[in-house]
Amino acid sequence: MNDPHDLLLLILSSPSGAGKSTLTHRLMQEVPELAFSVSHTTRAPRPNEVDGQDYHFIDQERFLELVRSNDFAEWAEVHGNFYGTSVAELERARQAGANVLLFDVDYQGARQIKAALPQAVGVFILPPSMPELRRRLESRGTETPESLARRFAKAREEIGQYPFFDYLIVNDELQTALADLKGVLAAERCRRSRRAPTAEALLRAAVDSTEVLE
Ligand code: ADP
Ligand code: 5GP
Repeated sequence: MNDPHDLLLLILSSPSGAGKSTLTHRLMQEVPELAFSVSHTTRAPRPNEVDGQDYHFIDQERFLELVRSNDFAEWAEVHGNFYGTSVAELERARQAGANVLLFDVDYQGARQIKAALPQAVGVFILPPSMPELRRRLESRGTETPESLARRFAKAREEIGQYPFFDYLIVNDELQTALADLKGVLAAERCRRSRRAPTAEALLRAAVDSTEVLE
């Protein structure tokens, strides 16, 4: 993947049920120049999910074909299904004129994206407590008892990956977590490396205006 350096790459990860999708949807409503990297998955769509918008839903055979043809920038098996980010998503975001590209991926995907694009920013969403995580997973009403147990059992391993991320956001009260996430975006936009071209342009202009004055 080649990264146009003006595009801010934001990786969002969390244990299942911590609120990543909810936060992503809210952030997209409030930050119009944000593009969401639509992953491919072999998991079945949930009732509220739209093909091509939440995920590209494909079968396992097609997924493995895309793996073989190197169409994925990263992919992983998560909770018994395959998930992958296609190389084309970065290009799509650039063409759409986005200046933030958000990846909703598990920690394996986060590691692969960071390895390829070290300037990507990793944000890990934590639940306020384990009972609340379980309650959210149950209340979402999307999992079979087996899938729910599998996702909850995996949460410990996933939370153990927190040192790998740049920011940790506790999603207790949704509005606060959303404000934290927007704060991360604001801070990352002000990074010296991003703002250096502006400073350099001012320096050049300052030299010119000094010449005019002399
Ligand atoms: P993830 O994408 O991380 O698996 P979801 O965004 O689907 O998690 O959230 C899991 C459930 O928890 C959903 O039913 C969602 O409405 C709910 N939820 C998300 N954030 C909060 C919050 N701050 N407080 C209460 N419920 C929440
Ligand atoms: P869900 O089935 O709840 O939508 O997602 C399950 C897990 O798969 C979540 O941790 C989510 O972040 C992760 N995931 C979604 N898309 C991708 C992807 O393209 N690559 C990787 N590695 N993980 C993904």
